[in-house]
Amino acid sequence: MRVLVTGGAGFIGSHLCERLLSDGHEVICLDNFFTGSKQNISHLLDNRNFELIRHDIIQPILLEVDRIYNLACPASPVHYQYNPVKTVKTSVMGTINMLGMAKRVRARILQASTSEVYGDPQVHPQTEEYWGNVNPIGIRSCYDEGKRVAETLMMDYHRQNGVDIRLVRIFNTYGPRMAENDGRVVSNFIIQALKGEDITVYGDGSQTRSFCYVDDLVNGLVAMMNRDSFIGPVNLGNPAETSILEFAERIISLTGSRSRVVFKPLPADDPKQRQPDITLAGEKLGWKPSVPLEDGLKNTIAYFSGRMK
Ligand code: NAD
Ligand code: UDP
Repeated sequence: MRVLVTGGAGFIGSHLCERLLSDGHEVICLDNFFTGSKQNISHLLDNRNFELIRHDIIQPILLEVDRIYNLACPASPVHYQYNPVKTVKTSVMGTINMLGMAKRVRARILQASTSEVYGDPQVHPQTEEYWGNVNPIGIRSCYDEGKRVAETLMMDYHRQNGVDIRLVRIFNTYGPRMAENDGRVVSNFIIQALKGEDITVYGDGSQTRSFCYVDDLVNGLVAMMNRDSFIGPVNLGNPAETSILEFAERIISLTGSRSRVVFKPLPADDPKQRQPDITLAGEKLGWKPSVPLEDGLKNTIAYFSGRMK
C-alpha cells in the first residue's frame, strides 16, 4: 500500500515510517520540519519505497494514497505554545485538508489524538467514554481544543461523507529521537542528569504520568489502522503510573548522575493525574505495551548520551 505519514520526520512519525517500510509499504513522509528533522529520517532516504515531501498541512495538497496517518502537530507544551494560533490551524485546517484527501481518494485515515482531550481529568484512570475536563481559554487550550476539534472533524467526515476513519488517543510516549529542546519531562530530566545539572521538577512533583515506549505505541497505531470495523476512539498508552518526583529519582539512579532535584513553579493547567485505561485496546486490538519503563529508559538514555558526544 501507499501510506502517507504527516509529521513523519518527528519523533513518533519517524519510528512509524521505519515500521511501515519494514512491513513492505511505500511511504510518503510529509513534514514542515517545525519540530521534526531530516536527521530523524536520514537513514530512510536511500530506501526506494520512501519519499519525503516538505509541506505544511495547513495548505491543501493533492496526493494519491491508500492510507493516511495524520501525526503532524507539535506535541510538547513548549513547542505548541510557541505559536498557539498556528497550533490550532494545524489541528483544524490541517485535519480538514487530510480528511478532504481521504474523502477524494477513499483512503483510510488515522488521527493522532491525545490524552489531553481529557484535560485535567476528574475520572481516573481515563476511559474513552470520559468527556474530559478541559480549560477552553488556557495556555494548553490551543493544543487540547485543537485536538478535540480534530476528533469532531473526523467523526463528522465519517458520518457525513462515509470517510473511513480511525481515532487514537495517545498518552505520554518516549524514546529515541525525542527532540532535545522540546522541554518534555523525559528529555529534560535525562539531559539534565547526563550533564550533571539540576533536575527541574515542576510543582511538588506529586503529579503523575504514565509513560509508553515508542515501539509499543507504533505497534498500537499499526494495529488500529489495520483493524476493520472499529473506528475508536481508543486509548494507547502504558498504564504504569509514576509521580514526576519518583520519575526524577529513577532517572538519577539509571544515569548514575550526581544531579540534585530542584523545584520550579508548576505551569498553568498542568494535569494532576494521568493514566490510560487500555481495556478497549486489549479487547479490540489485542494490544498492550510490553516494554518495561526501565528498558525503554535505558535505550533513551543511550540515545541522548550518544548525541551529546
Ligand atoms: P513531534 O513534534 O516530534 O512530531 C510532530 C511532527 O509534525 C514534526 O515532525 C513537525 O515538524 C511536524 N509538523 C508540525 N506541524 C506541522 C504542519 N503544520 N505541517 C506539517 N508538519 C507539521 O511530536 P511527536 O511526539 O512525534 O507527536 C506526533 C503526534 O502524536 C502529534 O500529533 C502529537 O499531538 C501526538 N501525540 C504525541 C504524544 C507524545 O507523548 N509524544 C502524546 C499524545 C499525542
Ligand atoms: N515537568 C517537570 N519538569 C520538566 C518538564 C516537565 O516537572 O522539566 C512536568 C510537567 O509539569 C508535567 C509532567 O512533567 O507535570 C509531564 O510534562 P510533559 O511536558 O513531558 O508532558 P505533558 O504535561 O504534556 O503530559
